[in-house]
Amino acid sequence: MQKVIRINQERLKNIFLDLVKIDSPSKEEGKISAFIREWFKKEIPETIILEDNSNVETGSEVGNLIIKIPGNRDARPIFFNAHMDTVEPGRGVKPIYQDGIFKSDGTTILGADDKAAIAILMETAKTLKEKGIPHIPFEIILTTCEEIGLLGAKYLDASLIDSKEGLALDSEDITQVINRAPSAIRFHVRINGVSAHAGLNPEKGISAIKIAASAISNAPQGRIDDETTCNIGLIRGGVATNIVPELVQVDGEVRSHNEKRLKEVQDEIISCFYKEVDAFKPEKGALYPFATVEVEDDYPLMHVPEENEFLKRILHIGDKIGRKLVLVRTGGGSDANILNKKGLTTLILGIGMQQVHTTEEFIRLSDMVATCELIGELLK
Ligand SMILES: [Zn+2]
Repeated sequence: MQKVIRINQERLKNIFLDLVKIDSPSKEEGKISAFIREWFKKEIPETIILEDNSNVETGSEVGNLIIKIPGNRDARPIFFNAHMDTVEPGRGVKPIYQDGIFKSDGTTILGADDKAAIAILMETAKTLKEKGIPHIPFEIILTTCEEIGLLGAKYLDASLIDSKEGLALDSEDITQVINRAPSAIRFHVRINGVSAHAGLNPEKGISAIKIAASAISNAPQGRIDDETTCNIGLIRGGVATNIVPELVQVDGEVRSHNEKRLKEVQDEIISCFYKEVDAFKPEKGALYPFATVEVEDDYPLMHVPEENEFLKRILHIGDKIGRKLVLVRTGGGSDANILNKKGLTTLILGIGMQQVHTTEEFIRLSDMVATCELIGELLK
């Protein structure tokens, strides 16, 4: 078995504690971005740090950071991706480190998602430099606004990136590499009925709620097949108990690992609404009721094929250091979906964070160390 790089666990621990103490909810990544820049300038002065102009579109305080660490071995660079923002409640995090585990005090999230990844990358870069270990050049792409619709990644200026392939460090299990993630759309249906006084002349009204209820009960929902899920998650409508409701808004999503199936299920759901609206028309061709439907792309499909050379290289590195990595697919979207769409081959690596997006979030230092070792090996 290959000897892995020996990282400084105490320093890794302190970098991580420093990072989680900096508030960085989505759009407020200014402070953490400045901290990371300063750190690299001081610890690895040869680093080149770029920032794109994505903040114009995302509304964040800052753009995405692209940190380039020159190599001393001649090879194509690879990149690592993580996001700087966290979900709420994520302000004033008071981290607790006990028995090898980091957690919050229970009133906030911890922010291991995704600051553990940032700490892992900082510590690995520092170890390589400090020990003079020859390594290939690499880039660290730190995005903003991942948690509010992958906005930083969507507006990332990919022309600033030299690498063609890399790893997103943004998942839980350290034995897993994710090569497939679904595509997703969101739909918004608005049903216009006719309002009327419910007691005086209900027959003049057409209830948008009744139409919506009928359509929703016929629409496919839940796990549709092995590759596809859908959900109607929001419904709003009506004004008062004595008014036949004129307006209902229904919002939902469809996800699939198969673009064709996604489109089919999307069409099936939407046709349920059109069908019900027609069924409720007082006569054929009447204007009311009617439905308007809007569909927005949420994120594109991600599928790095198993024969991809970079994917094979990652699995091989795992074998080499005695850590069996398994390929899995996920049901959620992340920056990696967007990066792949932009032509950057991206796999997602688990880093050990657990119970993310809850106040019970935690991570083991040993899992962070293990990730540093894997990355260090990949860079050697
Ligand atoms: Zn994340």
